[in-house]
Amino acid sequence: MTHTLPALPYSLDALEPYISSQTLSFHHGKHHNTYIQKLNELIQDSELDNKSLEEILVSTFNKPNEVTLFNNAAQVWNHSFYWQCMTPESSDHPNPSGRLMEKINTDFGSFASFLDKFKQAGLTQFGSGWAWLVLDNGVLKVTKTSNADLPLVHGQQALLTMDVWEHAYYLDYQNRRGDYINTYLEKLVNWDFVESNLAKAK
Ligand code: FE
Repeated sequence: MTHTLPALPYSLDALEPYISSQTLSFHHGKHHNTYIQKLNELIQDSELDNKSLEEILVSTFNKPNEVTLFNNAAQVWNHSFYWQCMTPESSDHPNPSGRLMEKINTDFGSFASFLDKFKQAGLTQFGSGWAWLVLDNGVLKVTKTSNADLPLVHGQQALLTMDVWEHAYYLDYQNRRGDYINTYLEKLVNWDFVESNLAKAK
């Protein structure tokens, strides 16, 4: 099975001025696309060739001989998910609502407390990685992962992610990761998508 680069759910300039078309062009067209090409090369003529992306992730996780394959497959999954976590219409729905907001208040105490935890996860991820809102045994948690690691292989369901690899923000924010994180949370999150992920979660 050949994995293909999913189209962005918006145009390259749709997230300006917060994320430039130059960043999206490199991030989607070069970085994400390269992970997909490497994944396809690595599974060609192997028993993983006909497996889904999720099956590949589960079967290669924590296998010393499969690190490169796992990393590329995980980065494919993470980026496909990350694009959907953002929307140019975020200002129409700038905060969570409904069941998600109720659950955030229950599990974090308040939305402000969630925001603080998510920011800290992104800021304190040393080097490359991801910040996440996940559902873990029915409870919302904020986590961070290094490099390509992702909630799926830790028994958690991802609801929201933020890429904190430098390639996600360096052209627009240089070393100011905190400014990128604040902008992401204030201007870019697609809460409809996060709510739909909670509704689908088991
Ligand atoms: Fe990235």
